[in-house]
Order: sequence, then C-alpha cells, then structure tokens
Amino acid sequence: MENIQKSFDVIVVGAGTGGTTAARFVAKKGLDVCLIDRKQKAKIGDKICGDAVGNEIFEILKINHPKNEELSCHIKGAKLYSPNLKKCITLLDPKQTGYVVNRIEFGQRLLNEALDAGVKQFLDKTMALDLLYKNGTVNGLQVKLKNGEKVNLNAKIVIDASGFYSPLRKKVKSSLIEKQVLKEDSILCYREIVKFSPKDQEVKDPEYITIILDQEKAPGGYIWYFPKNESTINIGIGTFMEYRGKVKDLYKKNVFQEYVKTRNVDILSSGGGVVPVRRPLWSCADNGFMLVGDAACQVNPLHGGGIDPSMRAGYHAANSAIHAIEIGNNSINELWDYNYKVMTSFGAEFASLDLLRIVLQTLSNDDLNFGLERDLLSGEDVLEISSTGSLNLSLVDMAVKAFKGISRPNLLLDLNFLRIKMKEISKFYKNFPHKLTQFPEWKEKIIEIYDKINKMIVNKKKSK
Ligand SMILES: Cc1cc2nc3c(=O)[nH]c(=O)nc-3n(C[C@H](O)[C@H](O)[C@H](O)COP(=O)(O)OP(=O)(O)OC[C@H]3O[C@@H](n4cnc5c(N)ncnc54)[C@H](O)[C@@H]3O)c2cc1C
Repeated sequence: MENIQKSFDVIVVGAGTGGTTAARFVAKKGLDVCLIDRKQKAKIGDKICGDAVGNEIFEILKINHPKNEELSCHIKGAKLYSPNLKKCITLLDPKQTGYVVNRIEFGQRLLNEALDAGVKQFLDKTMALDLLYKNGTVNGLQVKLKNGEKVNLNAKIVIDASGFYSPLRKKVKSSLIEKQVLKEDSILCYREIVKFSPKDQEVKDPEYITIILDQEKAPGGYIWYFPKNESTINIGIGTFMEYRGKVKDLYKKNVFQEYVKTRNVDILSSGGGVVPVRRPLWSCADNGFMLVGDAACQVNPLHGGGIDPSMRAGYHAANSAIHAIEIGNNSINELWDYNYKVMTSFGAEFASLDLLRIVLQTLSNDDLNFGLERDLLSGEDVLEISSTGSLNLSLVDMAVKAFKGISRPNLLLDLNFLRIKMKEISKFYKNFPHKLTQFPEWKEKIIEIYDKINKMIVNKKKSK
C-alpha cells in the first residue's frame, strides 16, 4: 500500500474550480488538507464547458486573472438574441465582462495554486466512494486509491466538490440535503471547440459571448456561440434532459450547420455534459459536511454559468470549515453560516433567476419574440431584479409596458406576476435564517412561491 497520510482537518473531494478554491483557502490558513480527484493530475481542469468566466471572481478572491496560455480571449459583454434573431439585448454590466479560458490550463493553474498554498496531500486517480460517520457526523471518506485499494481517510470536515453526479450527495444521511436533482432542473448540453481558417470564416462578435434563445432548436435551453480567438469558437446547445440521445443531432443541425460556414475545420474538442439549473440545494451543509459547486446546484439557472459560483462557494466553505475547526465544533449549527453566506449572496440571485428560467422554458418562440422585442421583461429588468432583489418601475414604465403588451395581455400579466415573485423570493433569500431553527418556516415561504409560479404555469397550459 502507498504510504499515505490518513487523517486530516479537511478533505476536499474533486479538484474542479470549486474544490481547488476550497482546498487552497483552507490550506492557506495552515490546516491539514487532503484533496482528491478521480482524474489523473494532468487531466484536472479538462471539462466540457463553454469556458466563459466573469472577471469579478478574481477580484473578490484576490487571485490572478487568467493570462498567457490560460486565456483564450477577453469578453466585453453578452448578447442575447430572440428566436427570430430580430432582437438582440446587449448586456454590458460589469458582471458580464470577463474571459473565455483554455479550460485545462485554467484548471491546472487553480490546482497548482492550491498545492502551493499548502495542500498536504493530493491524491489523483482516487475515487470517493462513501462518507464515514461517527455519532451522526461525517468524519471521513472511503476512497479507492489509484492502485485499486480501498482505504478510509478521516477528517473533521469533508467538502464535496465532485460535480453534478456527486456520489456523496446521493449517500449522505441528512434530512436537510436533497439527494436527487430533478430532471426538470437539469440541462443536457453538447458542445464543440471548432477551429477554422480566418480566410474561410470570421468569428462573429469576437468580444461578446452570444446566446440565442430558441425553443424549437434548443428546447428548454439555448444555443451558445463563444469566441476563443480569431479562428476558434466554442459552440454548443443546452436542452431539456429528455433529449438524451438526440442532443448531438440537434447540435449538428441547429448549431454546427448554422454557425460554421466552412467545411474546412478542425474539431479540437467535443462532448456532452449536464448542468443543474435550479436554486442551490435547500441546505449545502450538514454535520461535518459541506457541498460546493455543481454538487450543490450552485449554478446560474439562467445561463448555466457555474465556474464563478463554485469558486465563491469554495471560498465560503473554506472559511466556515476554518471557523468550525478553530472552535472545535463541526456541527451543522456552526456550518450553517456557510448556507447563510451562499443563500444571501448568489443564492438570492439564483433563486430569482430560477423562477425566470422555469417560466421562460414554458414560453413559445412567438412569446419570446414578442416579449423580448417589446421589452416586456428586458435584460435590464432581469439584471436589476436578480442582483438587487428589487425593480422600481415607475408608473410610466408600467404603462408603456402595458401598452406594448396590449395584444398579449396574458403574457404581460404572467410576466408581471413573475417579476413580483422574483423580487419576493430574492428578498426571502437575502433574509435567509441565521439559525437552523428558523429554517423550516423560511422553507415553507419559498415552497409557497414555487407553488404559485407552478400554478400560473398550469393555468397557462389549461387556457391554451
Ligand atoms: C457543456 C457545459 C458548458 C458550460 N459552460 C460554462 C461556462 O461557459 N461558464 C461557466 O461558468 N460554467 C459553465 N458550465 C458549468 C461549469 O462547468 C460548472 O458549473 C463548474 O465547472 C463547476 O465546478 P465544480 O468544481 O463544482 O465541478 P467540476 O468542475 O465538475 O469538478 C468536479 C471534480 O470532481 C471530480 N470527481 C467527480 N466524482 C468524483 C469522485 N467520486 N471522487 C473523486 N473525484 C471526483 C471530477 O473528476 C472533477 O475534477 C458549463 C457546463 C457544461 C456541462
């Protein structure tokens, strides 16, 4: 057997963007950290992804921005198109500026920085199998090492950042953490990185990431076209999960054939993946245990961006772990603070965007064309509600929207109701309970909001 250390302050499972961030900040504090990943070290960071990340996270965490071989290109903002491509909303707020990265180089950098920060032991090609418990509290993991041997590793806290398919979430003994992510809260994706000669084709809007909403071509999701450099793009499609087995065909027909005009291409990478698109799990922690990133559904429900939130969550989880270990109490009462930080920050935004996502998925292309062209719910509205939890439309604005929506009063009413519920849920999340004891009452209120939105959708379907 390999001579490995078996007892730690913290074990982090998964060396993706969330796990490396958590490991780095715990290690920086001088605690004993073990980081494990089932991939071999050289493959860490290799993930099917759109590769876009905003620049804010690097400022918040005070870490290096992507540069040199990690960086594909700088991004000024996002362009969102209606299905008929007649309306384009350009989003230029600071949150939309950032980078398209070379994913593996980016991932390797984050891994190396975590190791340099003092991670005690990094085990690659090591699979987390199950959680270990003592007196109802997680106190370690069973893992399968690269030599095939199964061993137990102990820790005061386990941070699970093992991504969407987290095996640990499915096995956790907890009444707070959901084990399953519903199919309707997940999006199936397929994407390729396509290189062509700049002589044959120009990269469209090389400083913007482009998103096209189209319920017929990308049912339930969207088509994306992200630049990488003057001759390379990252293009893909997201759809409802029921398109499993068909998503590649949809990609070929509705994305590749439409957006790649030359046949003289190199496909540098291709593949599929699943992304959760709901608000974060009800609780991202329990005794001795925290979940980070995709494992905790901490992904922007509207566009599926999860790099930034996984890193934010990794940072918050690290701080909560450090605090719990310092005071010698790893119970959920102490780790609750992690939930508080997640829910009151990006959790509030994601809950609000989750409602928007649910409603958008029910709209037809005609509804989307109409609503977007007439600004019934504009890009600015969405950004304002989701980032501030409020939207102060003047009476004049309301009247203008009402006038523009006059030929589709039901759509206008639905969008107004949605706007109100988005504000409401964001406020609830910003007032997330400080203590676990207040949580059940809070949860009831959130369920009520979801029930109302679902009822609106059922009524809409009935009236069709
Ligand atoms: C097609 C697609 C496009 C996307 N585009 C974007 C985008 O443009 N911008 C953006 O911000 N987000 C995007 N996302 C989402 C983003 O990739 C994820 O949200 C983000 O990578 C989450 O990071 P994570 O650390 O939680 O998990 P991951 O990056 O998935 O890392 C999990 C790690 O855990 C390891 N692991 C898994 N199981 C085990 C186990 N049992 N034992 C040990 N290790 C294990 C894996 O090997 C992996 O290294 C996209 C996702 C998809 C699928």
